[in-house]
Amino acid sequence: MRIGVDLGGTKIEAVALEGDGTVLARRRIATPAGDYAATLAAVRDLVAQIEAAAGRRGTVGVGIPGALSPATRLVKNANSVCLNGRAFDRDLMAALGRPVRFANDANCFALSEATDGAAAGAQSVFGVILGTGVGGGIVAHGRIIAGINAIAGEWGHSPLPWPEDDERPGPRCYCGKRGCIESFLSGPGLAFDHGQATGETADAAAIAAHAAAGDGAAAASLARYEGRLARSLATVMNLLDPDVIVLGGGLGQIGRLYESVPRLWGNYVFSDHIATRLVPPRHGDASGVRGAAWLWSADEAP
Ligand SMILES: [Zn+2]
Repeated sequence: MRIGVDLGGTKIEAVALEGDGTVLARRRIATPAGDYAATLAAVRDLVAQIEAAAGRRGTVGVGIPGALSPATRLVKNANSVCLNGRAFDRDLMAALGRPVRFANDANCFALSEATDGAAAGAQSVFGVILGTGVGGGIVAHGRIIAGINAIAGEWGHSPLPWPEDDERPGPRCYCGKRGCIESFLSGPGLAFDHGQATGETADAAAIAAHAAAGDGAAAASLARYEGRLARSLATVMNLLDPDVIVLGGGLGQIGRLYESVPRLWGNYVFSDHIATRLVPPRHGDASGVRGAAWLWSADEAP
């Protein structure tokens, strides 16, 4: 049995999977806000509850925001900032008394969809998170490519490619740069762009709903978003050329992206023909926690 834990900024989710992906137990709790020791204890207790419910002991994989720095072995780049600078891996292994595997949450998402999700059977997969932020993960031949700096797939803080004049220098990003892909393609990025164009305050879900209901201004904002997404994905395709791209996060639920973006990316991808599939996730919000469980592969899990 494999246990996956998805440590998010607002909730911690855990799941126990059978070898064929069947869910044996599932739990979800609120993340103790800003409290490292309480977060550690919450994950430990969640694993204990899952094992009690399933009646078995399992392997444990954990998806975290940010990454474990290969240089310091401490957490970096986490938006749940109480984790940053902490030896979360060693602390949790000590609390659970067993080896635990860790991966970035976007990498877990990509692994889940590549293992038994929308990209099952693909040789290479780029899993995208379009939500509060913009992340990404790469899976090749069933394994996460984490990268020597643990930043593989982090396309959100590269600049928006082929920018129009009115996209330069672009919005300021929390990372310190301007014009990052994340500052255009995150939910807040779409809302900001729509606000600049219309003076309206609406979040990404409302903009998508208004566009679907025939609101011209919302449709125009979504069309700008689609063009930017197509350009941004084209640079990923030119570099990585994945078989499948899966769009997760809240904005991945906007159905028209799956038709509009492949119509647009041909202008930018360096190929006469494009066989790449752009697909929604099969496991939706559960992909992060399932991918964490799959960090232990079939031949390793007891
Ligand atoms: Zn940035």
